[in-house]
Amino acid sequence: MRFRRTSTLFTIACALFISSLVQEERLMAQSSVLVPAPITPAQMKDSMVKLAAELLAKYGEGQKPRIRTGLHQVMEFWRPEDGDTAAFEDFVRANFAGDQPSLDTLFDRFQRLLEQLDGHMHEIAREFRNQQDLDLGPVRPYDEVFGGYDPSAHVLDDFFQNKLAFTVLLNFPLTTLEERINEGPKWTRRQWAETRLAQRFAKRIPAEVNLAIARAASESDNYIAGYNIWMHHLVDDKSQRLFPPKMRLLSHWNLRDEIKADYADQQNGLAKQRMIQQVMERIITQTIPQVVIENPHVDWNPITNDVKPAAENDAPSAAPANLKITTAPEPCTRYAMLLKTYRAARLADPYSPTAPTLIERRFNEDREIPEERLQAMLEQVLSSPLVPQVAKLIESRLGRPLQPFDIWYSGFRPGSKYTEAELDEMVATKYPSAEAYRQDIPNLLKKLGFASDRAQSIAAHIIVDPARGSGHAMGAEMRSEKAHLRTRIEKSGMNYKGFNIAVHEMGHNVEQTLSLNDVDFTLLQGVPNTAFTEALAFVFQGQDMALLGLAAPDTQTEALKTLNDFWGTYEIAGVALVDMAVWHWMYDHPEATPEELRAATLEIAKDKWNRFFAPIFGKKDVVLLAVYSHMIDSFLYLPDYPIGHLIAFQIEEQVKKTGSIGPEFERMAKMGRVTPDLWMEHATGKPVGAEALLSATEEALKQTEAKP
Ligand SMILES: [Zn+2]
Repeated sequence: MRFRRTSTLFTIACALFISSLVQEERLMAQSSVLVPAPITPAQMKDSMVKLAAELLAKYGEGQKPRIRTGLHQVMEFWRPEDGDTAAFEDFVRANFAGDQPSLDTLFDRFQRLLEQLDGHMHEIAREFRNQQDLDLGPVRPYDEVFGGYDPSAHVLDDFFQNKLAFTVLLNFPLTTLEERINEGPKWTRRQWAETRLAQRFAKRIPAEVNLAIARAASESDNYIAGYNIWMHHLVDDKSQRLFPPKMRLLSHWNLRDEIKADYADQQNGLAKQRMIQQVMERIITQTIPQVVIENPHVDWNPITNDVKPAAENDAPSAAPANLKITTAPEPCTRYAMLLKTYRAARLADPYSPTAPTLIERRFNEDREIPEERLQAMLEQVLSSPLVPQVAKLIESRLGRPLQPFDIWYSGFRPGSKYTEAELDEMVATKYPSAEAYRQDIPNLLKKLGFASDRAQSIAAHIIVDPARGSGHAMGAEMRSEKAHLRTRIEKSGMNYKGFNIAVHEMGHNVEQTLSLNDVDFTLLQGVPNTAFTEALAFVFQGQDMALLGLAAPDTQTEALKTLNDFWGTYEIAGVALVDMAVWHWMYDHPEATPEELRAATLEIAKDKWNRFFAPIFGKKDVVLLAVYSHMIDSFLYLPDYPIGHLIAFQIEEQVKKTGSIGPEFERMAKMGRVTPDLWMEHATGKPVGAEALLSATEEALKQTEAKP
């Protein structure tokens, strides 16, 4: 996991390009409808013509395209409260940088001061979270308030109000994703830095719209967070209970992970998995009785849907006196929640002219991979001829035909030569404290192939803190700050699980350090998106045994890991396609009822299943792909998972090819935040794609078949 402060100002990646007069007029008409305008569209147009002529006379023909673009961009975001015609004209005259030296000064100043702003805001946020994040004793209610406070929440509004945002918009062009993809490869690094600078101010979403989106997000989060099933109260036709008392599983994560764990249960595994599939289908179809959700006081047969008072008691408290036991289904709340997030997201559409839907904002701005391309990559995996081959291998390992829940097959995980206890002891001896781990970082980095002096200087940028939770990495946002590695230390010292996570987080910290300190422009700090930093962290994590001085995983172990990842990508690619299709359906049916959305989601889930899974599983019309909770509360987040797998494979393959992690890692990480394709071209010679995963899978299948 990687912790990064998120605020609208710093994560916005946007595109905006006004080319036609028609669009200008439409936008001006929009803003004048919203608030009575002291500066009318006609006045503004007159002003623009006048200013354009004035600036042209002053700075010459060479500045003509910049003048035109700058004026249009300022005009587009200017609201009545920003000032009248005179204020608009004065602002433009005073802030247009019409020659290269003034533009350089402006660029340098913004780059330096925004680094300071980001860095210090992040520093405050990190300090405010310390009591919650670190192993520092009780968390008081006020600690939670400090932790939830975002000091940068209003920065974007402030920057429009004091017009610094307009200064950027007047001088640096906004771009579309198409331009960044097609022209970006020819840009200089400085042009890329200017592009990212402009993008920070590419949207001006009113505070009340952001608030409405946050409210919908938090309401659906709460709905999902309380959606637990009490497993001991699932009964079959013979009133048998398959699951132990007090087992309370959150949908869908814990339910899915229980299916994965049940492969190890020789006796009841299959029956448990079938029952969980039935529970999931009841949730998706909303035929689940309302009374069984988060309720240990009733017994439920998910096949017949019978509900009875609990015959066994494992509840933490007595049943409420007014508990009514009926089979009345959950009233489509799942889809009502999803509709609420859609309707809230849509409120931002008018303020995002060239990415006027959430779908476009997700793909063109956040991921910077066009939707059609991403969809094609997912379908390439889903329809790969390797799928039936891996499926056959799973069937032979299971000794039975595949069942729908085998999309979560977990049996490719190889055993270890060492027991967990042996590993724990080794790690605890080596790292009795967080400080011991910190001191060893230069040594660990040298083992990973970093040159001695580089290992020392990178390690000097990393502070190790004892974490309250399992651990995370928190990078710095300015060069004078350090990255923080948060790791869990038990009283007996670090254990193996903690070490494995610490190595992953250290991968994040090294990426964070290099992509901030070694990148040529701090405006390009970071990586294209989260999938990239996760992929780099996994490269480190995969070396954990070698770092302990134990034998690195053999080829057979590596092959099984690859097959596990391939099967996981196949599954989540199907899930992502459902998420994407459902969002398109909502945009096509803005007035839909929850009931209609439910029906549409079921159709979409069945359709994707029938196309990509039914031929493999021999069963049609399965709805399981729609079970993910992210679909309800995460605003089209799911495509990030399969794309993350593809990116991880590309990076791992590249590192394997060169044989040394350190120098490759340094070379890749300092490319900074350009588009995913450009980053990947630089790193591996190819754009983002599925080939690395597919060829690794093909190789892994050969390895597995070669072994008797
Ligand atoms: Zn991570």
